[in-house]
Amino acid sequence: MSDKDLKDDMNIEETKQHEHKDHEDNYESVCYLCRRPKSKVGKMIHIPNNIDICADCMQKTFDTINQGDNPYMQMMGLTPNMLYMPNLPNDVPKPQKLKKKKPEEEVAAVFDRKKIPAPHVIKASLDDYIIGQDYAKKVISVAVYNHYKRIYSVKKSDVAIEKSNMLMIGPTGSGKTYLVKTLAKLLNVPLAITDATSLTEAGYIGDDVESVISKLLQNAGNDVEKAEQGIIFIDEIDKIAKKRNTNSRDVSGESVQQGLLKLLEGADVEVPVGATSKNAMVPLTTVNTENILFICGGAFPDLDKVIKTRLNKQSSIGFQADLKDKYDEDSNLLQKVTVDDLREYGMIPEFLGRLPIIFTLEGLTRDMLIKVLQEPKNAILRQYQELLAMDEVKLQFSEDALEAIAEKALEKKTGARALRAILENIMLDIMYEIPKDDNIGSVQITKDYIEGRGVPLIEMRGTANTKKIAARQ
Ligand code: ADP
Repeated sequence: MSDKDLKDDMNIEETKQHEHKDHEDNYESVCYLCRRPKSKVGKMIHIPNNIDICADCMQKTFDTINQGDNPYMQMMGLTPNMLYMPNLPNDVPKPQKLKKKKPEEEVAAVFDRKKIPAPHVIKASLDDYIIGQDYAKKVISVAVYNHYKRIYSVKKSDVAIEKSNMLMIGPTGSGKTYLVKTLAKLLNVPLAITDATSLTEAGYIGDDVESVISKLLQNAGNDVEKAEQGIIFIDEIDKIAKKRNTNSRDVSGESVQQGLLKLLEGADVEVPVGATSKNAMVPLTTVNTENILFICGGAFPDLDKVIKTRLNKQSSIGFQADLKDKYDEDSNLLQKVTVDDLREYGMIPEFLGRLPIIFTLEGLTRDMLIKVLQEPKNAILRQYQELLAMDEVKLQFSEDALEAIAEKALEKKTGARALRAILENIMLDIMYEIPKDDNIGSVQITKDYIEGRGVPLIEMRGTANTKKIAARQ
């Protein structure tokens, strides 16, 4: 055995030992050069002085040395043969390690995607979480059913079934994001949520469109196969409408729509693993977007005006001409949206053509907001009740208190989003005061307390005594 072989064997042995040790403790090694942990880069080569180098960096180093085309080497008049390993510093670096994450428990999906249940079953599950929005839930259930049926259908037919990408139109806080999140959870597929406003044409400041695929890959634990069946939700899609009356290059509007076209349709995209931008140190992988379900959502402010103008134009022609203000009070105007209206709004036809399913969500009414507070499986009120139940305190809200909270939320015009902020504000004093006294058995929140005029009703354990908490400021 030659000296070199012996040395190689020793190195392999040392790497093996090191790996074994790695298993034992909870820390993972980090590449000395690119600083990425072992979970991201795979196998590492261990060299003396506690230095680990990933295979990628090692390869790059060899390539550079072999080619001798490193500009710094040329600048300094060095040739590859003149390279020598400098003496490693005497002060041995500390072990370079990151604390390992605990492996996430695999959550079982409610539905098996491969035997996807009928749309009415999907909708019934969505009903447990989302209040109202019956039409939207119906459309999305059918679309998802068809989408996964298309992917997993055993019988291959000549009819190419189109992808069920969707466009959701609805005011803020009406449950667009929540609907998609719930769906992804029920199906146990990876989900990436991105904001269209952060996207720009490749080469400009901001994320280029392919970064959404990297995000999905990351959320799928770098499992390409899993990512390829995931869902991507692009929020605020109305913000990338074509800018009107502009002479400058529209890098965040029309160009982003153009950039998204190929992703929506299905393409092989090269994405970095473990990072959102491509650079020399990050390995790349290819993700095919053919089976990724894209859902776009947006509030489309002023779209109603576009729809109204069209409807007025139609109805003012001919003998059956209607009054001009016929649609002024129509609260369902948004539901009458057509592809032409969206084109008028600034979405390009090719983009709309790749989102065959377009549907609307309604703004939440007062009664719906009251239901959002208490009915969904993880309703905010239930969360507070659960928290206080741990202290063996019963929390109740009077009917008129719930109405008052809903009224307050309506004023904010941000849909159900306002509810949490309002409730957190109301509950702060309660959550602070109650644990002070072990004798408190139940608390009832009243309308007066919500409006800052009265106090909640507190009952002591085992007696009919009531105690008072100071009114809110
Ligand atoms: P947006 O339509 O702006 O995407 P979100 O889906 O983010 O709104 O809604 C914000 C929060 O409001 C959600 O996390 C959810 O708790 C609640 N919410 C909104 N709409 C509903 C609804 N229809 N049913 C139940 N909860 C809802």
